[in-house]
Amino acid sequence: VAKSRGRNQYVYFDQQMQEQAQTKMRTASDLRTALSRGEFELYYQPIVNLANGHVEKAEALIRWKHPEKGMISPATFIPLAEDTGTIVSIGDWVFGEAARTVAAWRSRYRPDFQVSINVSPVQFKNSGIPHKKWVATLESLGTTGDGIVVEITERLLLDVEDSVRRQLLMLREAGMKMSLDDFGTGYSSLSYLKKLNIDFIKIDQSFVSALAMDSEDMILCEAMIAMAHKLGLKVVAEGIETAAQCSLLRTIGCDFGQGYHFSKPVRASLFEELLQSHSALMA
Ligand code: C2E
Ligand code: MG
Ligand code: MG
Ligand code: MG
Repeated sequence: VAKSRGRNQYVYFDQQMQEQAQTKMRTASDLRTALSRGEFELYYQPIVNLANGHVEKAEALIRWKHPEKGMISPATFIPLAEDTGTIVSIGDWVFGEAARTVAAWRSRYRPDFQVSINVSPVQFKNSGIPHKKWVATLESLGTTGDGIVVEITERLLLDVEDSVRRQLLMLREAGMKMSLDDFGTGYSSLSYLKKLNIDFIKIDQSFVSALAMDSEDMILCEAMIAMAHKLGLKVVAEGIETAAQCSLLRTIGCDFGQGYHFSKPVRASLFEELLQSHSALMA
């Protein structure tokens, strides 16, 4: 009995693995089709200079407008894209699209405007970031690398192989800036901030959401800002939803803010209206 049950379990397991493999293949092909059909779009969320309310940067956030399923959140499909390797071509598309946009906005509105893009650790694997192609893209657009801020996560720094460090260096040599996303949520080895020449840290929204005078989160934010400033880095606070959070962060010297309090991520055309109007987003 034991033997036959064992075998049945094996058969069942085998079937499950096969189904999983098939689902994965289907997802990979769906994502590739989406890319070729132009179903992805970058939305842009303002990053505001907290000292004067000016919109000096934007974060590009990918959206998938699925013809049947409607809008799919990156939190759903990015992990699948990472799992199936399609993040490499999606990430390449994100770069090209963001570069084109920042080049246009720099020439029309603000010559120092910056767009940040999220880059997955998977993009650094195997043949890695196609930095030569990226540099060629920037050149063909007649723009410089400093318009692009590359947002990486602590997840990338965990396996800080030489190859990752070399690739980050090449992006820096092309003029691009580096930002450490979701700061404080993972394993933050502070020495990496210096070693990898990070320009910005983004304080994760989990520290901002319950921010109140004399709270523990307030103390943590103050400490992160003080440390960043001593290392010569600028600080962006993510997920600012209220005027109170904004004013507390301003009081403790946070440089930039991002969140629904200012604006949700919006399509490029709407973001451009904001840049056209030159309006400050301070409340
Ligand atoms: P992230 O890079 O930390 O981006 C911030 C997320 O917080 C965004 O979610 C944004 O819409 C959301 N957010 C902004 N302000 C607020 C606020 O005030 N309150 C709240 N509750 N949320 C706010 P989104 O757009 O759904 O993106 C989720 C994550 O997906 C991103 O987190 C990033 O890790 C990933 N992602 C997005 N676009 C890309 C991409 O092009 N490539 C890669 N590899 N990952 C991406
Ligand atoms: Mg980000
Ligand atoms: Mg973040
Ligand atoms: Mg996040």
